[in-house]
Amino acid sequence: MDLCDINQIRALLDRHGFHFSKALGQNFLIESWVPRDIADASGAGPGIGVLEIGPGIGPLTSELAQRADKVAAVELDKDLLPILAETLSAFPNVTVIPGDVMKLELSSLVAEQFPGLSPMVCANLPYNITTPVLTLLLESGLFSAITVMIQKEVAQRICAQPGGKDYGAFSILCQYYAHCELLFEVPRECFLPAPKVTSAVVKLTAQKPPACVHDKVFFFRVVRGAFGLRRKTLLNALSAAFPLDKEALRGCIEAAGLPPDIRGERLSIPQFAALADQISAAL
Ligand code: SAM
Repeated sequence: MDLCDINQIRALLDRHGFHFSKALGQNFLIESWVPRDIADASGAGPGIGVLEIGPGIGPLTSELAQRADKVAAVELDKDLLPILAETLSAFPNVTVIPGDVMKLELSSLVAEQFPGLSPMVCANLPYNITTPVLTLLLESGLFSAITVMIQKEVAQRICAQPGGKDYGAFSILCQYYAHCELLFEVPRECFLPAPKVTSAVVKLTAQKPPACVHDKVFFFRVVRGAFGLRRKTLLNALSAAFPLDKEALRGCIEAAGLPPDIRGERLSIPQFAALADQISAAL
């Protein structure tokens, strides 16, 4: 069947007595170019094992299964399992794993599902878990690339550069672990039901951690501190986050080569790294 044909989808869902759950971020694709282009962009191919999060009724899963050696698709909604058994029956290289992706032991899943393969992630993510799930996937260090459809606004934050209005702690987290690209937008009309916002596809390609960061945990403490008080100067934000007086912190900012009245949202990763080294030495 055509898993993006709205009439066939409605008939399938009716036959299984399925009802959409807003809480599970269920917006299913109804335009076949979207899963095709996402799968093409993901790099799925021979030698690749793809972890998909939230297969829904399987439009992206089937595109991935035609390209990659193996697809493991984690679906939280039990009501979708009998539907997936039907729609993916032609693909012996797909395993549907019932459960919550946030609660799975990802390294065991990868070892069991993708022996001898290079693991990647590709998904049309449920909107409500975008930030925690991307953090989990990036920090796991298990995947060479993560290609996901998310809210356009979050995609812009992930790819934002210093000084822009969208730049923040999450931009830095993503760009620490990966080369981040916003690939294309997907209009609301491509989904059933249509979400309120435009979506976009981002690709996060894993990279070596920046060599300028000497202590990852402390670096991220400084980043969170700098963005903790968004409209304050860096100096005021840091003095709320670290037990150092303002003179000492002003000294750290200047020793890192930065102007004393700069705001945190202007700092690049190397600048945050230099600042973290100074604060760490002063503490
Ligand atoms: N891939 C399908 C598509 O593109 O049409 C469905 C995408 S829909 C935006 C998100 C899917 O994620 C739904 O099937 C939903 O049930 C599932 N889901 C929601 N939260 C989840 C979680 N924590 N773990 C795994 N799947 C989840």
